[in-house]
Amino acid sequence: MIELVVTFDQPTTRALLATIAETLIAHRDELTELDRAIGDADHGVNLERGFKAVLAGIDRISALPIGLALKDVGRTLIMAVGGASGPLYGKLFATIGLRLESEPALTKAAVVAACDDAIKVVKALGRSDVGQKTMLDVLEPALDALRTVDDREALRAVRERADAAAMETAGMLALRGRASFLGERSRGHVDPGARSSALIVGAVCTFLESRLPAAGVSAHAA
Ligand code: ADP
Ligand code: MG
Repeated sequence: MIELVVTFDQPTTRALLATIAETLIAHRDELTELDRAIGDADHGVNLERGFKAVLAGIDRISALPIGLALKDVGRTLIMAVGGASGPLYGKLFATIGLRLESEPALTKAAVVAACDDAIKVVKALGRSDVGQKTMLDVLEPALDALRTVDDREALRAVRERADAAAMETAGMLALRGRASFLGERSRGHVDPGARSSALIVGAVCTFLESRLPAAGVSAHAA
């Protein structure tokens, strides 16, 4: 088995955060339209505000080690994003950062454990679980797909799983958030938070695929 070990220096952290932020900002209108159908038409605008704040602070944030940088992203999102998604995404990033802070190396096992913890924190904060038509319906299957990845090429499977999982929320009944007020009428629409989660997962996977060698990945027999 091959283990991937990633080293994040300042330019790498900066490029990763910029990729995530620019991807979400580029999809602002799509996310807002999804939220117009089953919410209050602000998801794209909320995330744009949050990730513009991340871009505004990117010099400060990317100068930090990756764990502290992700904690800072989380805090920034909590402060800047309105709506349900701000605290939820804020806690997601902050918890991943908190967990990675104490890791000596950013191995896949460390990242999986950190994401697993962060998803649990989101569930607790949102009093939510998979199957309720939320961001969790993408985050959890994407993490499960990541568990099976053992080389750079397999990251594509994670991105594809996240995209497919977001589409699958269209068939679900919303049981959390504003969309739940619609009851059965929430069916037939992709959940905005599920779509934004797929965009985040996709941006991270695409970034890692393109940058893993340059980012100092060493592959060794585990
Ligand atoms: P608001 O619903 O307050 O307008 P947003 O539109 O920014 O906030 O975000 C809506 C998204 O947040 C939903 O599509 C859903 O994925 C996610 N969400 C809302 N409530 C919860 C919850 N309790 N648990 C998990 N995710 C949630
Ligand atoms: Mg909304």
